Amino acid sequence: MSTLLSEVAAERGIKNFLVSYTDLFGHMRAKLVPARAIDKMARDGAGFAGFATWLDMTPAMPDMFAVPDPDSLIQLPWKREVGWLAADLYMEGKPVDQGPRNVLKRLIAELKELGYEMRAGVECEFFLLAPDGSCIADGADKQTKSCYDQQALMRRYEVITEISEAMDELGWKPYQSDHEDANGQFEMNWEYDEALKTADRHSFFKYMVKSLAEKHGMRATFMPKPFLNLTGSGCHSHVSLWRGEDNAFEDKDGELGVSELGYRFLGGLMEHADALCALTNPTVNSYKRLSAPRTTSGATWAPNSITYTGNNRTHMIRIPEGGRFEFRLADGATNPYLLQASVLVAGLDGMKSNRHPGERSDFDMYAEPHKVNGAKKLPQNLLDALRLFESSKIVKEGLGESFVSSYAKLKHQEWQDYTRHLSDWERDHTLDC
Ligand code: ADP
Ligand code: MG
Ligand code: MG
Ligand code: MG
Ligand code: MG
Repeated sequence: MSTLLSEVAAERGIKNFLVSYTDLFGHMRAKLVPARAIDKMARDGAGFAGFATWLDMTPAMPDMFAVPDPDSLIQLPWKREVGWLAADLYMEGKPVDQGPRNVLKRLIAELKELGYEMRAGVECEFFLLAPDGSCIADGADKQTKSCYDQQALMRRYEVITEISEAMDELGWKPYQSDHEDANGQFEMNWEYDEALKTADRHSFFKYMVKSLAEKHGMRATFMPKPFLNLTGSGCHSHVSLWRGEDNAFEDKDGELGVSELGYRFLGGLMEHADALCALTNPTVNSYKRLSAPRTTSGATWAPNSITYTGNNRTHMIRIPEGGRFEFRLADGATNPYLLQASVLVAGLDGMKSNRHPGERSDFDMYAEPHKVNGAKKLPQNLLDALRLFESSKIVKEGLGESFVSSYAKLKHQEWQDYTRHLSDWERDHTLDC
């Protein structure tokens, strides 16, 4: 975009811009910049003290600059005088290795070198809670099988349609919203697009849902497993690879309509999924959703092993139709940029190393897990995941050594903080030892 942002602001009535970035933990950080000052910021970046956010920096480091990407501009549909901009992180003139958006852009460029573009669509499940977060907002939402519950969906008509109309206005092409499998849980779908655009929209979607839920007197959460007995919030990502306008994952004569290239990409994901869990399932709480016991609805809808299948929702990867697959591993806590980067780093290796995903599993993985021959299990907790993440050569090469060491360092701190926490369970089980 060659037009100055101040001119766009004058045209559209934007008074302030949010120059925003997502740190390693997926937290959105921003400076609010008046339209009058935006052109200089767009050129030089907005200054931040990196240490003050989750980026593994020290307080002694020089200023970090968030340089907004003008193509990412989103005018807040519920507060039109504000324009949101996704920013890339720089320090001393160089891109910051730990910047999640920088990491994704690097991988997208690598894929482009091979002549391809990745497109993705994400399904961001969330709960609507009471403002203090202690329980779901709708006290009447109590069915054990609450998926698609029309009555509970329509009790949330105002907030759901406000979000959906906002997506429509922004040109995201929303096409459905529903009540999901857990009480208080919803999902809203919009159409897939190029991976960076989807990652920006995914970030913004979380901000929008939280903001509009607040406006309607509720609190939205994307926490992976806020209630132990209920289905958790996943973040499935649907993936395809394009060469121009040709879907390179599609082959009408291929097994399930997927091309040889598609299977190689998938082979990479099967190979590296466990080492990437630290990114796709990044919190202590994430591992209460994976490999979990049945929920009150009858199924967790989350994977427990590294398997793939056709149109069957009990496995980690589902191929619902030719030309794309659904990666069902990630949860609501994943950083939107690192989710796409995870898929890409694994897929790129699959393509380059000619990996094959192995045999397809066409059975109910919840009822008959023993049927799989030698499938790898998913990590059982964050520490398990971090150890796999740090020791993977492909992850380090693909995402960058310094990114991996920074991310792992901060997440190990989180794990240590968690283990220092004394729980009721421990007291109940140990008091009488
Ligand atoms: P599910 O059946 O898993 O609940 P949804 O309809 O909720 O599926 O979400 C499907 C997502 O997949 C949407 O974002 C959709 O745009 C996206 N999608 C569809 N086709 C493709 C494709 N070829 N490549 C990437 N994403 C796709
Ligand atoms: Mg200051
Ligand atoms: Mg869905
Ligand atoms: Mg869902
Ligand atoms: Mg899905």
